[in-house]
Amino acid sequence: MDVQTADLVLENIGQLLTMDPASGGPGDEEHDPVAGLGLILDGALAAQGDRLVWAGRQRDLGSHVACTPGARRVDLGGRVALPGLVDCHTHLVFAGSRANEFARRVGGSSYEEILAAGGGIHATVKATREASPEQLLALGLKRLDRFLGFGVTTLEAKSGYGLDTDTELKILRVASELGEAHPVDVVPTFLGAHVVPREHRHAREGYLDLVCQEMLPRVAEEGLARFCDVFCDQGAFSLPEARRVLEAGLALGLRPKLHGEQLARTGAVELAIELGALSVDHLEHADAAAAVKLAASGTAAVLLPGATYFLGRKDYADGRMLADAGCRVAVSTDFNPGSCLTENLPLMLNMACLQNRLYPREAILGATRFAAEALGLGEEAGSLAPGRLADVLVLDTTDYRNLIYHFGVNHTHLVFKRGKQAWPPPG
Ligand SMILES: [Zn+2]
Repeated sequence: MDVQTADLVLENIGQLLTMDPASGGPGDEEHDPVAGLGLILDGALAAQGDRLVWAGRQRDLGSHVACTPGARRVDLGGRVALPGLVDCHTHLVFAGSRANEFARRVGGSSYEEILAAGGGIHATVKATREASPEQLLALGLKRLDRFLGFGVTTLEAKSGYGLDTDTELKILRVASELGEAHPVDVVPTFLGAHVVPREHRHAREGYLDLVCQEMLPRVAEEGLARFCDVFCDQGAFSLPEARRVLEAGLALGLRPKLHGEQLARTGAVELAIELGALSVDHLEHADAAAAVKLAASGTAAVLLPGATYFLGRKDYADGRMLADAGCRVAVSTDFNPGSCLTENLPLMLNMACLQNRLYPREAILGATRFAAEALGLGEEAGSLAPGRLADVLVLDTTDYRNLIYHFGVNHTHLVFKRGKQAWPPPG
């Protein structure tokens, strides 16, 4: 029998949710209410360096794992452990506050009306252009601390609040620095085609030329992003415009992602599938035909219920339809200053259940395994199996369902990132 050497052992785990793909898919709730969780009762985990070397039953630990001298053993007292959460869609790096427009929205102004009046995203663009990299870094670190406190260990960060070459590059460089300086892994995405900046409002084509011919080549040359995203919707970038940007990114090695079907059914799903996008995100207006096509594709469906909520809209995406069709459904915060300012990913899982109609185990899959897959990191993060990163969230409860059911509070007990305790910060 192979014995693994370990310098970190987590033992006495009441419910260990491995989310291991080897344990099967989401299944169906009626026949298997724990399908997809890879649930092990009375479990234990072992890691060496930044990787897991073993996951299994507590009683089998001794025969499979040998601790190195000085190894850390942590008794979790019957608590729940699951993979560190993955937030696969955030707009992490920006400056300024839009607290002033919140009251206007409560008073009835729509996002589109505020945007048309020069507020909304344009206010964030102005503040972000004026901010120094040091200021953006300091803001980002505080946000990452909050994400980590809610159990997030990997996070995607989009640009898109610069909308000129210098600021877009500044945002992406800050995103990379944040990943270096903070325990949370940051995966950068270029979103130059977020909105047409005000100075180009009478020259959309000129702005798209800038994105495709100047920004994207610079981003690729400096290796500043892994993915290229576009806000493709009614009143945003059209399908042909999105295609142009995503194809330019693909030619430079940046895999597509897409904001689509949020405000209207536009065909963004079909474009995302055709271009081999890793994910299409929002999907409030995706229909049954879109769900069937997505299920048959390699493109993940990302739900952002917090954005629907924070915008005061009622048109939540039909997550039940997407999951029943067989889509890989991920759930994310969409963290951003205009339409969802929260780092509380577990709260989004509660919304994904009550508003998108996912089952709790599907929502947890959506913030672990399927979220990692939506970032092309399925072999690294989002599940607890030998060889994967030792990213572990320990909840201060003995029932994993409390992560979603007991909502709006923080259940985090401990977070390990790459085999090291990251939260609470050690020392
Ligand atoms: Zn977004």
